Amino acid sequence: TAGIQARGLTKRYGNKVVVDDLSFTAEPGVITGFLGPNGAGKSTTMRMLLGLAKPTRGSITIGGRRIAELDDPGHTIGALLDARAVHPQRTAFDHLLAFAQAAGLDRTRAGEVLDLVGLTAAASRRAGEFSLGMKQRLGIATALLGNPGVLVFDEPLNGLDPEGIRWARTLMRNLAAEGRTILFSSHLMSEMELTADRLVVIGQGRLVAESSLEEFVRAH
Ligand code: ADP
Ligand code: ADP
Repeated sequence: TAGIQARGLTKRYGNKVVVDDLSFTAEPGVITGFLGPNGAGKSTTMRMLLGLAKPTRGSITIGGRRIAELDDPGHTIGALLDARAVHPQRTAFDHLLAFAQAAGLDRTRAGEVLDLVGLTAAASRRAGEFSLGMKQRLGIATALLGNPGVLVFDEPLNGLDPEGIRWARTLMRNLAAEGRTILFSSHLMSEMELTADRLVVIGQGRLVAESSLEEFVRAH
């Protein structure tokens, strides 16, 4: 099973400890919410899960394997890290082709994933004209391109209107029902209550709680 396991994860930048001895798991078939205030270390943790930042200490496994040992990262883990980071002049469709090229993924799925996120009608529009909600959808389409079993979404609901949030919740629910591991971050408990099954809560880089949503709500 392609879950995420982080053990004793620590990231230091200079003298500043940004992620501090953090251990947690995210299981297949479950939507795990990664909750913490701005600056808590959520993005840094997600970058480490993707192999984009090197842990100072600790270990990460995806489906029981260390990131460096994954033979096919693009098919194992997909991510939305910063929805705003689009090329303004590039169309939605071209974003997917460029990502497929860079990540060695099959470009023939580009139309399919755009359809999945409801961007078919906007496929040939430049991403610079997109609302933040549309950029979130484009980022999610990119994450889905390799059909990965593990999905990591950093603040995916940011900038979505209530209808967009319902859409994103249904999508994450369906992806989890297919047996995928979903980890998504937010600084808002309200977004967790709408969407997450389980919570990993961090503050100042440290684990604050790891429990089911109901358990956390009961205790707080
Ligand atoms: P979150 O996603 O929870 O808002 P981040 O992981 O983005 O938190 O940031 C956690 C802390 O780490 C912040 O104080 C941020 O300024 C710091 N930080 C993040 N990346 C770097 C970096 N490359 N160099 C120095 N400090 C960083
Ligand atoms: P460009 O858009 O400049 O061609 P890429 O297509 O190579 O850049 O990458 C787009 C973004 O996707 C990068 O910012 C990278 O951080 C992010 N990314 C890295 N790994 C993954 C992954 N496994 N799934 C989805 N996005 C990823």
